[in-house]
Amino acid sequence: MSNINSIQYQAAHSIFTQLDNLANLQNQSKISLRQALDFLEFNLEQKPFAPQRQASPIQVLGLLETTGLRFSHLWVCGMSASNFPSTSQLNPFIPRSVAEEFGLPRCNQDQELEFAQRTLGHWRSCGAELHFSYTQIDNDSPQLPSKLVLDAINNATSETEEAENSSTNSKSNEQQAADYSLRHPLMVRQGTDLEFVEDGIGTALADPHIKGGTGILKNQANCPFKAYATSRLGLKQPRAAKDFLDAIDRGNSLHKVLENLMRIYSDSDTVKQIGAAEIEKQCRLVLKKHRGLPSTFIENEVQRITDLVNQWLALEIQRRPFKVSGIEQNFELDLGGLTFALKIDRVDEIDQQEVIIDYKSNKNTVKGALSEPVSDPQLPAYALLSGKVAGVYFASIKDQDVSIDGIADPSGNLVASSNKGFSIKNPDGKNLNSAESHISWNEKVAKWKLELTELAQDIASGKADVAPSKDACKYCHLTSLCRINAQ
Ligand code: SF4
Repeated sequence: MSNINSIQYQAAHSIFTQLDNLANLQNQSKISLRQALDFLEFNLEQKPFAPQRQASPIQVLGLLETTGLRFSHLWVCGMSASNFPSTSQLNPFIPRSVAEEFGLPRCNQDQELEFAQRTLGHWRSCGAELHFSYTQIDNDSPQLPSKLVLDAINNATSETEEAENSSTNSKSNEQQAADYSLRHPLMVRQGTDLEFVEDGIGTALADPHIKGGTGILKNQANCPFKAYATSRLGLKQPRAAKDFLDAIDRGNSLHKVLENLMRIYSDSDTVKQIGAAEIEKQCRLVLKKHRGLPSTFIENEVQRITDLVNQWLALEIQRRPFKVSGIEQNFELDLGGLTFALKIDRVDEIDQQEVIIDYKSNKNTVKGALSEPVSDPQLPAYALLSGKVAGVYFASIKDQDVSIDGIADPSGNLVASSNKGFSIKNPDGKNLNSAESHISWNEKVAKWKLELTELAQDIASGKADVAPSKDACKYCHLTSLCRINAQ
């Protein structure tokens, strides 16, 4: 059970419990594999799987999961008449009379009603700011709000009104409008003009230390709301449970193999000596931590990484003389009052200048670093790390496509001529080996610094407007939160 994440662990635990139950069956006669699998499937389906969640200020919970919890704010959705109270769903193989005689839980509508009343009572007693909502149309059928909820709100409103009437008989329009919003958060008196207010500012950042690299800068550049939601509200895209290694694991293995090799073979002379046996040895060493996986899978992975490393080394040996001076090195970058913690894959020295190389296991180009405004601030941020940096590069090491893309001053050029697999641009975005740049490397770096400082200041001030760049929404997991499609 090593090397599995928490949800997988809890899933495995559930399965082991059912296997124990199977083993403890009183009936000692043998059962077939099919019967055993049916038993497991049936029992696993019956048992709700509710993995333990990480602590978070905002929780999205099922109705049952709210039992016993306390909240400061609670938004209960799906409160239509057809959903709350819900309809009792008696197992079709158990006659209702038997279910009632033996007191099976929630076996008739009276029990459902009681259950809903208790749940509602619990929500109301939490002292939370409480909102209820329901969808007006579901599967093309118009829906009504839950009567139970409406009654509760009306009772609460009349109690409040009685209390208020005793102190004053006249109410301002604003107070009356507030009473309406008690019934439904979007309910307003007829004739009231709705005013739409765009509020794109969250709270200012209290802690100026930013962990996790330049990802937040990239999100801020492409959609400030996404940056705020993922980095400030913690709404990162959850990583899917997996049986084998996912793209992140496989990328990490490749990174680690390259890191290990570069720690041993750390300049342009020794890199030529890396042989097949050494690469394979490093692959096996790195993949050892995944020892629970089938051996054929591991063998394929060793082969895959070995091929990629060989293709990468074929590029390395074409380079101008270099010396690796930093591997997985930590840096801090101060921008606009914030401090970004960065970990750099590799720093190489060339003629007393430095170039920074970032390994990628997918194809990355410098288009986003050269665009105006910058849409991918990673390489520009790396260029700001020291006055000695004269070139910044993505090393894309992916199946069928191993290449280097970068932007550099001539002194930070990796190759003396335009070699296949190297795409190196001057600060103007033209081929470094064949075109003059109108602006110098230092001017470009200064321009990047201004742009990135502005982004950092936006992050610090809590700027969070829904303003995506052209392709930002394509693979974003937040469409239902930002409601970009409703605009
Ligand atoms: S879906 Fe688009 S607009 Fe919404 S948060 Fe993501 S990038 Fe921004």
